[in-house]
Amino acid sequence: MQKLIFLSLVSFVYLPCRLAAQDVNKTIKTQALAIQQKLTEYRRHLHQYPELSNREFKTAAYIVEQLKNLGLDIQTGVAKTGVVVILKGGKPGPVMALRADMDALPVKERVNIPYASTDSALYAGAKVPVMHACGHDAHVAMLIGTAQVLSSMKKDIAGTVKFIFQPAEEGPPEGEEGGAALMVKDGVMDNPKVDVIFGIHIESWIPAGDIQYKPGAFMASADLFSIKVKGKSSHGSQPWLGVDPISISAQIIDGLQHIVSRQMELTKAPAVITVGKINSGVRFNIIPEEAYMEGTIRTLDSKMQLDIHDRIRLTATKIAEASNALAEVNFYTKTLVTYNNPKLVDNMLPSLQAAAGKENVRSMDWVTGAEDFSYFGTKAPAFFFYIGGMPRENDTKNAPPHHTPDFLIDDSRLYVGVQTFCQLVFDYPNTLNK
Ligand SMILES: [Zn+2]
Ligand SMILES: [Zn+2]
Repeated sequence: MQKLIFLSLVSFVYLPCRLAAQDVNKTIKTQALAIQQKLTEYRRHLHQYPELSNREFKTAAYIVEQLKNLGLDIQTGVAKTGVVVILKGGKPGPVMALRADMDALPVKERVNIPYASTDSALYAGAKVPVMHACGHDAHVAMLIGTAQVLSSMKKDIAGTVKFIFQPAEEGPPEGEEGGAALMVKDGVMDNPKVDVIFGIHIESWIPAGDIQYKPGAFMASADLFSIKVKGKSSHGSQPWLGVDPISISAQIIDGLQHIVSRQMELTKAPAVITVGKINSGVRFNIIPEEAYMEGTIRTLDSKMQLDIHDRIRLTATKIAEASNALAEVNFYTKTLVTYNNPKLVDNMLPSLQAAAGKENVRSMDWVTGAEDFSYFGTKAPAFFFYIGGMPRENDTKNAPPHHTPDFLIDDSRLYVGVQTFCQLVFDYPNTLNK
């Protein structure tokens, strides 16, 4: 009897909360679905007028135009062209940040769609065609839509939402600062201090509306490295009179691959070293003075990233020294490891499933591609995941890769992204006591 009374009391207390949560989920879904046509319109407008990194002026103005009448606090010119929008919920709670990147790429669109880009812009001193070839147009559209839906549900939100429209994810022009690193440096994660941050990337190879995620290390760190080998010039017929920087570079490139295959504990995390550029010499029978190479390092473990730096420096300088040459090695870190806080992923998985449908949410492997979203993760627990943008009838094998002229996104399910962001905002405060 005592047990029975206890049970009925529990259900009495529990049921209204659960019903309320179901109501919220339903409202989110209805509202997100209702703006799908708008989302397509936003995304296609942005697609038609793409802008390069740190030059997202029209994009920023367009964002402000869509959000200006909602009573939101809007800051522009953040980290050059970024827009930060604050929405204060009706109840006290955490500060939750949602991020969308804004920039396009120097790529000539080859897809036959009525809203294809015909724009061009200055890039590295030359006029180049510009295209949203990574789907950041979809990210901006989804975040605008999310701000609109959440504004209409403002009084029920427990906490503050910070919408971060970020410039230059693809990397600022040479000699400029930009992207997430500059946003963090300029204090975007403070005032009010962000407690948690979420980000979504649309992917051309995942069926539209599906979600894929990975707890822990998700996307790789990316470093650019350069090695200058200084030798001594001589006639090609008398190599013993010189120090050949080309043959030494060949040994160094071989040595770099031995770092990955012989020195890294690859069961812990994968690593990649690629030399993508090498320049030396002017003529077949002259041993040149110098050789210069550049490459990229990808790791999924921050300690491994630093370890590889040390080993590249050691390998290159010692190989050069063994032949009486000098090697100058430099590193430039572009992104850190994008790390998804495992507890946060665990807590928020039901939100992803509520939005996309349980059967459409799957875990995935490491990605050796990189994201500057990783910088936000140094300031607060972060969760970055993928949403699908491939027409559902297509085959992943034939999906056009990101950053290519044929890149294409099915924008008919952007509402799932909006729904997911809204769901995260409503569910996160409830996980704080877990
Ligand atoms: Zn990209
Ligand atoms: Zn991207």
